Amino acid sequence: MANAALLRLSRSDRVRRLSTRVPATRAVVDRFVAGETEADAVRTVQALIGRGLTATVDRLGEDVTTRAQATATAQAYTGLLDRLADAGAVPAAEVSLKLSALGQGLDDSLALDGARRVCEAAARVGTTVSVDMEDHTTVDRTLAAVHALRVDFPWVAAVVQSALRRTPGDLADLVGPGSRVRLVKGAYAEPAAVAHPAKADVDAAYDRCLALLMAGSGHPQVATHDLDRVDRAVALAAEHGRTADSWELQMLYGIRSDEQDRLRALGHQVRVYVPYGADWYAYFVRRLAERPANVAFFARALLHR
Ligand code: FAD
Repeated sequence: MANAALLRLSRSDRVRRLSTRVPATRAVVDRFVAGETEADAVRTVQALIGRGLTATVDRLGEDVTTRAQATATAQAYTGLLDRLADAGAVPAAEVSLKLSALGQGLDDSLALDGARRVCEAAARVGTTVSVDMEDHTTVDRTLAAVHALRVDFPWVAAVVQSALRRTPGDLADLVGPGSRVRLVKGAYAEPAAVAHPAKADVDAAYDRCLALLMAGSGHPQVATHDLDRVDRAVALAAEHGRTADSWELQMLYGIRSDEQDRLRALGHQVRVYVPYGADWYAYFVRRLAERPANVAFFARALLHR
């Protein structure tokens, strides 16, 4: 499981300022982030499509503190969707957004209006939107927003986290026809009252959620780099007679690219989550926290700068 002390750093403005000033950080960040500009993101997506993969593009940034920033996020996403369409990358590429980047921390209706504008732009260019899940304090409001968006845009994907004890209950409303649901383990430091503290329990919960999704009539999106979980997904899909286009695997940009290609070659749909933008700090620290070896890799890059 992710390292809780490191995850706390993802919310520290002081460490954010310090680490973004160290030039050597950039080289390590580039392993996980596709670049700072829309052009970088589009180029990365085109390369993934060339490998037979699909993509979901995330404009980095979260927890905005002003209405102007929230509006700017929605505008940036509509611009990104136009760029992806101009490059011929839709519908293979869609977008992933965080409601906290659209002002959820300020006002739920501000975030919902912003998300609606992004969905309208996605519908116009012929692709889809996924709503990322953030920490447990936001789950009710985020799922309510997804349900509200699905009235007009039934293809909006929800994300659920197996680390949270509540998730099997949430899935009851999410396994219906056509429902796109991304299943993840969960990337946030959560209290034991709401989340399983032990990795083995998160993995077991992942398998239970996976079984519910595969047995349902929605479109499961199995987002993990854990190959035991991937094998289980493949077996369950076969058991339920699912066709290759009725579910998909998802992995993050820069993690297990060889597996992305191997799984695609076996005939599975594989979507890569592509983050881009200047505000990479919190995302980057969550990736470091997931794997001690990443911290060592980062430390070595700093020492050799
Ligand atoms: P783990 O058991 O953590 O990892 C399994 C193996 O994968 C590791 O042993 C290692 O070999 C490799 N691995 C995992 N992480 C890394 C890493 N950072 N660097 C290098 N190798 C690694 N979380 C949310 O809370 N909300 C979201 O909306 C969300 N969206 C996601 C979208 C996608 C497409 C994916 C793949 C993940 C997303 N996550 C999200 C993150 C997720 O919750 C996990 O934190 C992350 O995927 C690591 O867990 P794992 O399932 O890969 O399993």
